[in-house]
Amino acid sequence: MARRQCAYCGEFVGEDVKQCPSCREAIAERVEIRKTPQGGAEIRRGLLYMLLGATFYYFTTPHSPVPMPFPIPPVVTTYMLPILFLLGLGFAIIGGMRRMGLF
Ligand SMILES: [Zn+2]
Repeated sequence: MARRQCAYCGEFVGEDVKQCPSCREAIAERVEIRKTPQGGAEIRRGLLYMLLGATFYYFTTPHSPVPMPFPIPPVVTTYMLPILFLLGLGFAIIGGMRRMGLF
């Protein structure tokens, strides 16, 4: 039989007792705390980074249907925007793994 401990005097009482027999204090009901799944923030951040990287890459390439009013350095479209996309992919994968409880 499961037993609970009185928060006021420390006496062990039965599971279904509402009042402590030694100190007469009311014993609170047990509250279940559910653990919420983690990783939602990483998933959202990753998807946002992927969307930003893909959108900027689409509009800054030389073959874009909407020409940019100012020149974009090639290092941005060659390295920075793909790195931003891959960073977002990594965040989304890590968030998904945390959501599944892998770590
Ligand atoms: Zn008590």
